[in-house]
Amino acid sequence: MRRKDSTEELLAKLRDDLLAARGLSTERLAVQIQEMGFQCQRCGECCTGEDNSVVVFPFEIRRILETMGMDWSDVVEPPQEGEWDSDGVFHTLEWRLKKEDGSCKFYAKRKCKIYGTRPLLCSTYPFYLDNGALRCSECRGLGRKIQPRKAWEIAALLKKRCIIEICEAIALLEKYVDFERGRPGKSGQCVVHDSEGEHRIVTELRS
Ligand code: SF4
Repeated sequence: MRRKDSTEELLAKLRDDLLAARGLSTERLAVQIQEMGFQCQRCGECCTGEDNSVVVFPFEIRRILETMGMDWSDVVEPPQEGEWDSDGVFHTLEWRLKKEDGSCKFYAKRKCKIYGTRPLLCSTYPFYLDNGALRCSECRGLGRKIQPRKAWEIAALLKKRCIIEICEAIALLEKYVDFERGRPGKSGQCVVHDSEGEHRIVTELRS
């Protein structure tokens, strides 16, 4: 199948997913969350360690920049997974919150320094939706009593996150310009593809 055809097919699937996501019942999700139970134990385990990798979208990055008065490169970094083009430029998808000493750089003294503007991924942890089904990651806060209002808040955020993730994926695909594959270069040039198009940056050398 030609790439243009497969992109169109993927876009059509994403548009169907978006319709389904918009139809999700917040009330039903809230009931499921209440049955599972959850109360954050402030252990910080989701903010630290090797597994901590927070995907963050451009509009979320801009909100953090405004609140914190920081530069783009102080807040996010590109993921390590990607491919090189024929000029040796590294290409990758989406941004991750920057890490320091293996932990999210915004986690300090057992607190999130950007709590009010933390990404949706953080405010809905440990829950996520898989084809509309509620799932959860490992977390010591699970199984604990949760107030109905709190369960409803998380459910509403989960639905919002699901819709935004699909919209971001659609925008990324619509703006994505493919490239000829090549070998690793030494320039440190990197292109991050996201819902805004291409961001060209210089990063640490990869090989
Ligand atoms: S942004 Fe805040 S909640 Fe999210 S991983 Fe970093 S410290 Fe944790």
